[in-house]
Amino acid sequence: MTPRSILPGATLGVMGGGQLGRMFVQAAQEMGYFTAVLDDDPTSPAGLVAHYHIATDYLDEQGLAQLMQRSAAITTEFENVPAGALVTLGAHRPVAPTADAVAVCQDRAAEKAQFRRSGVPCAPFALIDTPERLAAVDGALLPGILKTARLGYDGKGQVRVADRAALAAAWHQLGNVPCVLEQLLPLALELSVVVARSASGDVVRLPVQQNLHRDGILAVTQVPAPDATPALQQQAADAAAALAESMAYVGVLCVEFFILSDGRLVANEMAPRPHNSGHWSIDGADISQFELQVRTLTGLPLVAPRQHSAAVMLNLLGDLWWRDGTEKTPPWAAVLALPGVHLHLYGKTSARPGRKMGHLTLTAATPVEARATALQAAALLGLPAF
Ligand code: ATP
Ligand code: MG
Repeated sequence: MTPRSILPGATLGVMGGGQLGRMFVQAAQEMGYFTAVLDDDPTSPAGLVAHYHIATDYLDEQGLAQLMQRSAAITTEFENVPAGALVTLGAHRPVAPTADAVAVCQDRAAEKAQFRRSGVPCAPFALIDTPERLAAVDGALLPGILKTARLGYDGKGQVRVADRAALAAAWHQLGNVPCVLEQLLPLALELSVVVARSASGDVVRLPVQQNLHRDGILAVTQVPAPDATPALQQQAADAAAALAESMAYVGVLCVEFFILSDGRLVANEMAPRPHNSGHWSIDGADISQFELQVRTLTGLPLVAPRQHSAAVMLNLLGDLWWRDGTEKTPPWAAVLALPGVHLHLYGKTSARPGRKMGHLTLTAATPVEARATALQAAALLGLPAF
């Protein structure tokens, strides 16, 4: 039996008030839903635009009760929402993705176990959670990257280590919390795939995305992926679908992949939500990753998104607001004079270096044109070429 869908006019709830929540809220509102956001920050990007903002901590009982009272179904925009909060909500309302799926993506060790179960290769790694395991670590994993098992993002909670002494120092520096040590792999490319799976098991996806990171933070996404062969793209898409299937996942899932210099594909990590690398879909596809999130949450039909424009996405970090030591607004008027520019700012008031303030999507009829405009926009903003 197909569960009845939740139709426009109902209120959809979201745990977390960041930019991903904001774009979910905007997609839901476009379709005629009311929206409620739970986030303790009174100026959170999603809280500012939602119909209802519940400004409490994720584990606040009254806050959770209010969110449930308001919402016909609840999603999350942030994988570090405490699993307990999603369990509480899930006992009373449809919650997608489920607490179990989010718990897997919250923990790098659980995530790697899931990759193995799904037959998806990942980087060689070891769990380091005791001094004994630290001492016994296989030297073949060095040089490597030590990553905290939980709570890392944008390259935070990671240390590159060359040898055993550096590894021991890094584990200490990270507070001796459970970590995974991954072998440092020779990367030729980074790709990601956004898939959506419905409660009835339908799976659709966005085209494969090619990502460039700077200092551990996503900087540029290009779609179509200029440097990945069709065979590699198919492999990535199949792996992402297999992961969604193996978790009986409901919602939007993004899987990040590395392509190694010998051409092998390995999974890096996954996010139980829309992803920064899928933002281009708002402007470059007829169904965005956020609309997919609305459709999976409400049980509306999943239709394969069609990319109608070549797209390049540039992340806008807080650094752009700081030139020559003083705070200045970036030259938006000059950027907006270029063709096919879509400016997205998240309503964050303070521009700290490294903070994701917004993104720019450049769309065009061809990838060559989209890239050319993106390079012009990057030059105007003082961003490096790619
Ligand atoms: P985010 O949540 O922003 O995606 P994160 O903090 O969870 O990032 P990772 O995705 O694990 O971090 O790593 C960030 C980047 O560091 C990767 O996209 C890649 O460029 C590089 N990196 C991570 N692990 C490895 C590895 N084992 N070998 C080589 N490079 C790596
Ligand atoms: Mg990552």
